[in-house]
Amino acid sequence: MNRYSRTRIAPTPSGFLHLGNILSFTLTAALAKRSGARTMLRIDDLDRERANDRYIRDIFDTLNFLQIPWHEGPRNPKEQEENYSQLRRIDLYQALLRQLRAAGMLFACSCSRSEILQANPDGSYTGACLDKKLSLDAEGVSWRLRTDLIQEAAIKTGHGIVRTGLPATMRYFVVRKKDGVPAYQLASLADDLHFGVDLIVRGNDLWPSTIAQHFLAELLSADSFSNAVFYHHPLLTETGGRKLSKSAGDQSIQYFRSKGGRPETVYSAIARAAGKEVVVNNWEALADVLYTIKEYNLSS
Ligand SMILES: [Zn+2]
Repeated sequence: MNRYSRTRIAPTPSGFLHLGNILSFTLTAALAKRSGARTMLRIDDLDRERANDRYIRDIFDTLNFLQIPWHEGPRNPKEQEENYSQLRRIDLYQALLRQLRAAGMLFACSCSRSEILQANPDGSYTGACLDKKLSLDAEGVSWRLRTDLIQEAAIKTGHGIVRTGLPATMRYFVVRKKDGVPAYQLASLADDLHFGVDLIVRGNDLWPSTIAQHFLAELLSADSFSNAVFYHHPLLTETGGRKLSKSAGDQSIQYFRSKGGRPETVYSAIARAAGKEVVVNNWEALADVLYTIKEYNLSS
């Protein structure tokens, strides 16, 4: 197993943490421990419409309840707000946007969501504004990335280098939203660069994001990100275990706690969803159980 210096768990406070989040945190903590990496907690709170104080508090309550360790980052909501909020790093994001703009790698887009959907029902963007030469300083335009300047990304994964083009749904993805706020892909990449993250563990649902961020890193010549190693794991819904409840609320850790559940109730439920009927008391024991399942054995 390679040695790494830093990984992160990066929840978005737009809902209560659920079993799938804890699966991902457990795999991250286990890989960090095996590889000597420190784990940072980074709460992606830039989207102020979705971020909610209740959900930020829930992140700390849940990590403490389940005793999932982290070495760096905020210890409580107050530290998050005062020192670690993405709002404190807006200058960092703006600097990257300026760099992209100066290099001619952006274009302005005035399309509404419904116009995009009308042109393509799957929501992918075909570049309608690419040749319109709209001003980037115009009101209410989003800034899109010239993803057509690159053919493919080379992604270092725990199982070798994967070369891949950009999925259609990510074509010309937005790096600055219409309200002027930096978009998720840009902020996430900027943070990983800023904090020196070299190991990233994510669910398979974020694979398109990983590709998009590699395109962005390439256009920014951000080598440290291009050299970071990625481990993507299946979601609980993708494996053969017992079906999870359809209601997302029933999978929230907060719900388990409200029913008097203990940490082992949560960990055992994750093991069960992954296909193993065993009692599991803590994250390390869960990692051991998950590692007996091929798809979850990240370090193999
Ligand atoms: Zn457009």
